[in-house]
Parts: sequence; C-alpha cells; structure tokens
Amino acid sequence: MDLTEVNRQIETRQGELLDLVARLVAFETPAPPARNTREAQNFVADFLRPLGFDIDQWALYENDDIVVGTKAGDPTCQSLIINGHMDVAALNPDEKWTFSPFEAVVHDGRVIGRGVSDMKGSLAAALFALKILHDQNIALPGKILFESVIGEEVGEAGTKSTIDHGYTADFALVTDSSDLEIRGQGGVITGWVTIKSDKTYHDGLRREMIHAGGGLRAASAIEKMAKLIIGLQELERDWAINKTYPGFPAGTNTINPAVVEGGRNAAFIADEARLWITVHFYPNETYQSVTSEVESFVTRLAQADPWLRDHLPTFEWGGSSMIEDRGEIFPSLEVDEKHAAVQTLLDAHLGAFGEKTKLSVSTSVTDGGWFSDAHIPAAIYGPGDLRNAHAVDESISVARLVQYSKSLAQFIVAWTHTKKE
Ligand SMILES: [Zn+2]
Repeated sequence: MDLTEVNRQIETRQGELLDLVARLVAFETPAPPARNTREAQNFVADFLRPLGFDIDQWALYENDDIVVGTKAGDPTCQSLIINGHMDVAALNPDEKWTFSPFEAVVHDGRVIGRGVSDMKGSLAAALFALKILHDQNIALPGKILFESVIGEEVGEAGTKSTIDHGYTADFALVTDSSDLEIRGQGGVITGWVTIKSDKTYHDGLRREMIHAGGGLRAASAIEKMAKLIIGLQELERDWAINKTYPGFPAGTNTINPAVVEGGRNAAFIADEARLWITVHFYPNETYQSVTSEVESFVTRLAQADPWLRDHLPTFEWGGSSMIEDRGEIFPSLEVDEKHAAVQTLLDAHLGAFGEKTKLSVSTSVTDGGWFSDAHIPAAIYGPGDLRNAHAVDESISVARLVQYSKSLAQFIVAWTHTKKE
C-alpha cells in the first residue's frame, strides 16, 4: 500500500507529535513512588476512543491503571499488540536538570524531559501513528490492541495483567527502548533463600556449638548462609563458563547476593538468615528452569552439611512488585528472525529510515518477556536508548521520533493486512 501521504502527514504534523510527548511528560508518573498514573492513562484512553478503540481500563494498584484499547478486526488477518509503559524512572532530589523534568522542551533538535526516551516518546509516536492512519482513512483489517501499562520500572507486571485479562494477538510489539534495533532479552528473577533454626540459643552457648567437645549440634544461620553464598559463586562461575548466548558477553548470567537479613540481636545465635538474590539468565532459558537449577544446587550443598541437612533452606521466587512484596520477574524473550512480523518490521524500518536495522539482544529487561512467557511472539523495537533511560536531562532526537512514527505506521498497516496462513 502506498503510504506516501501518511509519511508526508507525519512529517508536516510533527508539531502535534511533540505536543503529545509534552502532554505525556507533564503527567508526573515516576516509579517509585508509583500510584500516580491514572490521569495519564485516562488521557491515553480518551485519545484512543475517537480512533475507533474500545477501552478496557482497570486498577492494578490504587491510582495505577492499565489501559487496553481494542480496535476490532477481521479474524483472518494478523492481529497486533502495541505495548508500552506509562511509568518513568524515579528522580533523585539532588539531580541537576537544565530544564524542568516534567515540562518537555525541544533544544538542539532533541526533546528533553523525564521519560522522553524511556518511554513516553515512543508511546506518543505510536499514538500519533494511529491518529494519522485514522485521519487518512487507512484501513487496518487485523485487530489492534494498544496496551498502556504501569509499574515496569519497579518490577510490577502490568503487562502480565493484560495477559491474565485474556488479551492476546498474533504478534506483540514492545516499544520500549531498543535504540531502534529489534531486540530480545535475557530474563531476571529475584528470590529469597531462607535458613531457619528450629531452636533459638543464647550467645553464651556458642562455645558448645562450635568447639571440640561442646556436644551441641546447632549453628548460626548467618554462618551457614555464608557457606551457601560461597556455593552460589561456584554455580555462577560454572554458568559463566558453560553457558553462552550470541550477543551477550560471557558471564552475563550472574547470581547476585544482593541483600542479607537475619539474626535477632547480639545476645543470640542467629536463628534465621535470609538472602535476597538476583538471577540473570539468557533468552533461551526460562525463570522456571534457572530457579530449579539454583534450588537443586543449593539443596545438594546443604545436604552435605551435618546441620543444614536437617534444616534445609527454603526458597521463595519472584514477586509481583519490588514495592509491595520485594520481588520481581522479567521473563526472557527470544526473537524469531524468520517470523513474518519480524520480517515486516525490518522492511518497515528500512522504508522509514532508509537503512537496515538489525536483530540484537537487550542488556536490560522490559515487559517483552511476558509475551514470550504467554507464547505470544514478540519483539522490542523502540527509539529510546539506554544511555538516556533514567538519565539526568533525558532526551531523544526529534527526527528519530518522527521517523520511528513512520516506521510504526508502515508496520501496523503491513502486518494487519497480512492474511493468516
Ligand atoms: Zn522502559
């Protein structure tokens, strides 16, 4: 289909795109503290309705809504999810911004403001592309779902919530930062390892439990945890040596002992210790497979210890929010280069930018993994870059946003015109 006029409109009406970016930036939606997106989400819903989208909006948390707009389509044509998050990275009080972070300004060809790169710029570009296609009366035969989610910055599974609500499509495009490459990602899962003694001892009994002839088989949970931490380093090294994935520096699959808690006070032997770990894994692994590897390794290590074998560590994996329950999961995402939507996206990018983009992997994580977890083919493709995400004076090139909007328009048209096989 000839989209010359669509491209011309995107070019000449780019002031509207920049206004849209500024409108989104003006909603102050940092996470943490979160619980601040409803107004912004109402704005997205109100933007989508006149474009023919039915709105489903629900609160994942108080004052933090998910919006899914559905534009019905012909079931014989390919359907599409466009996904992005409305929350932005937190601001530190001592950050020195040249301009006010929630008043987007254009300076030297770049828009500056909190979230313009991660990822209100691309949300605006996607909404703008849909608006131009609507205004130009371009038919979009396949069904389109526009998902504006929350909580991505704090490990809250807004996107998982859309899947739990039954939203699915033949392909999902996550418009989070990918520096215009088409990316998959490794995954992250956090977990707690807990060692607990069934008895609590006074500090005065330490001699009897650690020295010759003491006769008391007991232990400090903290000291036993130290043993598990050293053990995990060996597992981490084994993964680094034996697992690889193209695009990742060897050893990206780390196991970080991030937080240790435990003990009562100095008058007691520690009867409990809890270790919070962060596990990074490759796109061809799942959080289920890596957590079972960690569990079986740690359990076997504990079984070889005369006290731990009767006090085996317990595991709690993941969580639905770093704020609410101190845990998160970002499933991994593998992009299938041969998938028809990926080929369509490569063509759309080439058409808009005049040069090829490439498939790669993200060193960060996005909501993209939730689609993979739900067996929905997906890719991350957005104009933001990691250097700007979360940065002071976060910015994005205006020209890049405009071209990205053209690329999306072309992709949306081409993919939703594709017949299902
Ligand atoms: Zn993001």
